[in-house]
Parts: sequence; C-alpha cells; structure tokens
Amino acid sequence: MIEASSINKTVNTSAGSLCILDDINLAVAEGEALAIVGPSGSGKSTLLGILAGLDLPSSGQVKINGEDLTTMDEEGRAAIRARYVGFVFQSFHLLPSLTALENVALPLELRGDRDALVMATEYLQRVGLGERLSHYPRQLSGGEQQRVALARAFASQPKILFADEPTGNLDTATGEAINDLLFQLNAEAGTTLVLVTHEQVLANRCHRRITLQAGCIVDTETAGRVAAG
Ligand code: ADP
Ligand code: MG
Repeated sequence: MIEASSINKTVNTSAGSLCILDDINLAVAEGEALAIVGPSGSGKSTLLGILAGLDLPSSGQVKINGEDLTTMDEEGRAAIRARYVGFVFQSFHLLPSLTALENVALPLELRGDRDALVMATEYLQRVGLGERLSHYPRQLSGGEQQRVALARAFASQPKILFADEPTGNLDTATGEAINDLLFQLNAEAGTTLVLVTHEQVLANRCHRRITLQAGCIVDTETAGRVAAG
C-alpha cells in the first residue's frame, strides 16, 4: 500500500543544512497496523507527513498504491490524498467556527457527497458524540474534540489512516477509547494504520513497530498482536 525507498530529508537552518531523515526504506502492507516510535526529535512526524504525501522528501521515492508521489505536482498529490488518505493530528485541527457536525461533513461536501450530513451524523454517533452534533469545538473537551477529528477522518473511509500521537493530549481512559476505535477500523474495514506514538500499549497493538533515532530506523519489531493471535 505504501512503499518508501531511500528517503532523505534535509532542511536548511541558520546553522546550516540539517539531516532529519537518513535513507529510510519502508513498505507498509494493505491492512497492516504500523507503529512509529522513537524519542522526540527523531523524525517521526516528518516521516509521517512524507508517507502521507503532505510533505516531500529531499530525495528518494514514496509510492501509495503504486503511484509515485515524488514525481507528481501538488495537484496530483492532493488527488492521491483525497483518494487514499485520512490524517489525524495531535492537535485536532478542527475549524472553530463550525459545529462538530459541520466539521465532519465539510470534507465530504467538498468532494461532492450528497449525503454528507447523514454520513457525518452516523460517524459522530460511532465515536459516541451523537449528543454533541451542534456543539462548537470550544464547547467540547479535548477527548471529544479528538473524537470529532477521528470521525472526520473515518467518515471519508480512507484506505490509509495516518495519526500523529492521536491520544497524546488525552487522559488514559479517553485515549484507550480512541485507540479502540482506531483498531476497530483496522479490523472491520481493513484500513491500513500508520501511527506515531510514544505509548507502549498502542504500539503493542500494532502488527509491527519501527523505532526511529536521529532520522534512521534503528529497530523493527513484529509485535504483540501477530504473535499473540
Ligand atoms: P518527532 O516527531 O520525532 O519529534 P520531527 O519529525 O518533528 O520529530 O522533527 C525531527 C527533527 O527535525 C527535530 O529536530 C526538528 O526540530 C527538526 N525539524 C523538523 N522540521 C523542521 C524544519 N522545517 N526546519 C528545521 N528543523 C526541522
Ligand atoms: Mg512529532
């Protein structure tokens, strides 16, 4: 589903050129749940953005379902993202002037779904927010806002869901409920998951875990679920 080969990312800073990712090679199978772990600053978010086609590597190749993102223009990448990719950020990224329902419905309306409001309602119910449809983000707790962000990502029924520390801002109980939703999507819809996390529990539920350190993959472990199942 995703194939990254020889990914390098270098940025120019006042102190000179800085290497953030160093020769990353990674393939993610359809239906796989992959965790990316590693210390803060090791390049996890940068790698996730590149795999999702939100950012470009300095060199190397990224393919989603065989289509090379690095040879396309931004319009081409946007089309690939619309077709395959959902993204959940650590800091929700909800639009403050829209209700929960409108936040979830907007991307569906933009791509022309006529039943956007019906779909959005259904997905908000699935994440337990059926009673919060007309609440604005400021009227929702952090956990509820993250569930709106998840409903928005789920509603577009992406083939691949990327999540950057999706439970990083939440208390343990809320975080576990969000994790359950992610793996429900993986198990029921076969959605490929690529998760950045520092939570052992979440990483253990994935099929495979890679560890980044200073921009390199230093460890790959086929994890709990496969061995235990
Ligand atoms: P992580 O998500 O693992 O904490 P990041 O991918 O956010 O790491 O960042 C990796 C490193 O690259 C960090 O040291 C960060 O400061 C640096 N970095 C990321 N983006 C930029 C940028 N646009 N300009 C300069 N430095 C950056
Ligand atoms: Mg990060």
